[in-house]
Amino acid sequence: MKDVKLATRLYVEDELGEEPVLGLGPEQAHFLRSVLRLRPGAQLALFNGRDGEWLARVEALGKGWASLKVETQSRPQEDEPELTVFFAPVKRARIDWIVEKATELGCTRLQPVLTHRTIVDRVNVQRLRTAVREAAEQCERIALPEVADPVKLERMLDDWPDDKPFLFADESGGGRPIHEIVNETGARALLTGPEGGFDEREQAMIARHPAACPVGLGPRILRADTAVIAALSVMQALGGDWAETPKFRNLQPR
Ligand code: SAH
Repeated sequence: MKDVKLATRLYVEDELGEEPVLGLGPEQAHFLRSVLRLRPGAQLALFNGRDGEWLARVEALGKGWASLKVETQSRPQEDEPELTVFFAPVKRARIDWIVEKATELGCTRLQPVLTHRTIVDRVNVQRLRTAVREAAEQCERIALPEVADPVKLERMLDDWPDDKPFLFADESGGGRPIHEIVNETGARALLTGPEGGFDEREQAMIARHPAACPVGLGPRILRADTAVIAALSVMQALGGDWAETPKFRNLQPR
């Protein structure tokens, strides 16, 4: 059987739809030419998070440059239901994993939250934004989640509205099972702690927030990255978009 591949999806910063020809910078050009080994005429899908998805063809490419011919819109831009994740940053490989998986799972806003036991002193937000773009390319997502700058836990709680429920992943056992709370509240935001957990003062402070809904994720202690992914899966399955099926797989083979 012929190996039918979907067209490569590429995130671009440019406006799409206005200009028929688009130039790529050295990194993306190198990716197309030397990694994917595309040749003139190969089809691509482009998106920028604002103008929907567009089919394009490689017009010409050389060392460090490529020009693409933008052809037709293949998908309109769509609004996605809000799904916010506040997570305590963890070490490099695991934080990249959180961001990649949360993007695949439909998270719309990711914000690192600094807590007492957070052991990471600097969060490379630019690197996280790159991970988001790559995950969105791969999972056929049309919008990009926002990666917000890190905030302290106190600040996050001060800023969060009193009437918008958020799930507080509480490993102390004080919460109710997550599926019950999601079904009852329809919460679309989540707060998870660092590898060392929230300390007692923080747990009390979070629980005092009028919108906090402490939830449990079962009898085992999950690693911080697993907790984010597991909770997002439950939120999407019960109140989110997991009732829908992939419907955009209509691109031409290249
Ligand atoms: N250091 C802690 C575990 C922290 S796990 C300890 O050993 O007790 C990291 C984070 O994942 C926690 O802060 C919590 O937000 C979440 N988490 C992990 N397991 C959980 C569970 N069973 N229920 C709810 N939240 C959990």
